[in-house]
Amino acid sequence: MDKIIKTISENGAFRAYVLDCTETVRTAQQKHHTLASSTVALGRALIANQILAANQKGDSQVTLKIIGEGAFGHIISIADNKGNVKGYIQNTGLNLKKTANGQIIVGPLMGNGHFVVITDYGTGKPYTSTTPLISGEIGEDLAYYFTESEQTPSAIGLNVLLNDEDCVQVAGGFMLQALPNAAEADIARFEKRIQEMPSISSLLASENHIEALLAAVYGDDNYKRLAETELRFTCDCSRQRFTNALRTLAAAELRDMLKEDRGAEIVCQFCGQKYNFTEKDLEEIINDKTE
Ligand SMILES: [Zn+2]
Repeated sequence: MDKIIKTISENGAFRAYVLDCTETVRTAQQKHHTLASSTVALGRALIANQILAANQKGDSQVTLKIIGEGAFGHIISIADNKGNVKGYIQNTGLNLKKTANGQIIVGPLMGNGHFVVITDYGTGKPYTSTTPLISGEIGEDLAYYFTESEQTPSAIGLNVLLNDEDCVQVAGGFMLQALPNAAEADIARFEKRIQEMPSISSLLASENHIEALLAAVYGDDNYKRLAETELRFTCDCSRQRFTNALRTLAAAELRDMLKEDRGAEIVCQFCGQKYNFTEKDLEEIINDKTE
């Protein structure tokens, strides 16, 4: 079971989230049939989106659009603060590794671009905030977003590790933020700890990576666990939703589909689920429109 654990330091100076997103990213890989680089990029985006959503209150929903100019194209995902996330990457077929150490390449394939966060607080008036991509590695881009857009200095570590068959072995990360009442000495101590921290990949590779992440973030500082929420990749698409989408098309367009394609197959971008509409289904939709 994937989860996010929200914690706060006992002196109230810092807060941290730690996440296990292994099943989330594994499901995404299975649904989208992504190759290595595309899997890691999509997985990192899903983790980033889960951090952004967990940071919201109430019935909020956060859309993350990573609009790159590189070979990946766009990565789009949507998460709520109840632990649900769905997402896709335009180019699922990228598989680039450094020849020296087999490290999977992400940033250069993302390229320059924008990190766009759209928050819907359930009021119907979504709020959009955009920062430029710093490295395209997604963790750094999220840290920059928090620092620039929300004026909250944040340390972020997130990654996806693959096994020898390029299947998801482990995925997760952390977010550490200084709270407004943090003293300078506290901040200096935490900055030093972040600098000396083992790499996110080696922390994720630990036997119990949640505990390894917490130990790396807090060191000897005492902390409290505030909440734990289950995380999952899940799509809320349905036949009804796509029927409604077809209803918005012009009758002439629907007639073309009926005549030329003898029906329609619609694939959900977020999860790959296919929905088939027969000639009879389309006729009914056209008749409803023209009535
Ligand atoms: Zn779907």
